[in-house]
Amino acid sequence: MVAVDRGRYTCVVDDGAGGPERTVTAMRARELGRRSVVVGDRVSLVGDVSGAPGALARIVRIDERRSVLRRTADDDETTAEGRIERVVVANADRLVIVSSLADPPPRTGFIDRCLVAAYDADIAPLLCLTKADLAGPDTVLHYYAELDLPYVLVSPGSDLAALRERLAGQVSVLVGHSGVGKSTLVNRLVPAAERAVGTVSAIGRGRHTSTSAVALRLPAPAADRPGWIVDTPGVRSFGLAHVDAQSVLHGFPDLVPGTLDCPPNCEHTAGEPECALDAWVAAGNADPRRLASYRRLLASRAGETE
Ligand code: ZN
Repeated sequence: MVAVDRGRYTCVVDDGAGGPERTVTAMRARELGRRSVVVGDRVSLVGDVSGAPGALARIVRIDERRSVLRRTADDDETTAEGRIERVVVANADRLVIVSSLADPPPRTGFIDRCLVAAYDADIAPLLCLTKADLAGPDTVLHYYAELDLPYVLVSPGSDLAALRERLAGQVSVLVGHSGVGKSTLVNRLVPAAERAVGTVSAIGRGRHTSTSAVALRLPAPAADRPGWIVDTPGVRSFGLAHVDAQSVLHGFPDLVPGTLDCPPNCEHTAGEPECALDAWVAAGNADPRRLASYRRLLASRAGETE
């Protein structure tokens, strides 16, 4: 795997018709201006696209992105610098939220944050619960009972068929804290032996790697539905400073009915005296932990500590 190396991008070129893919090293052309190229981008190349050693092509166009997974820097949402919005991955179909069921225990606050990022990006979430041999999923699934959240269970020796089936033919981004088994999962999905030597990344007419996201081609026994996974070793969380309050609510569809009686422009924070959510949740319409999590995310966006 390589990161972007002094402005060099690794692009996979597919000439179509099921022909062989080749990787091409490219640099940005001046006409791109300040637009950045990110993992998952589809780009147009000119120049030497042979992929021969030493050959260098130029990226002259970035196709319109059908989805954009963004984050603001996780550690530093309180400063202007920290609030700079970054595109993590373009054109992803799915956000795979990897969480262990034990050791460490699941952190629903992190999962909630990822769900908000996924819905904001219009990417389908998938909950991947690891270490299922150590604990059952009931507590986590109960917390998300109202969401119809798709999930898969994984344990060290388990068959990954259900997960592979969901990843087939898609571009899936994996996120998770350290210790949850994400790296192990990536290695099981794409054994090192099957990785292209020295490179990897890029899709279609070109995609590239960066230090915070790396694209890996999924082995496809049935080659008609290959897919990609994008690992995000540099992404510990999704800063949500760029997401407005109403969009954060998209990560909590179970709370939406409770906001219908809120005054116009209600921010739904704990400090909103007329927010209808408090009474609605107190009446038993939703899990109080869900409201607490929603408000923690709202507060963290405002630069308050979580
Ligand atoms: Zn409200």
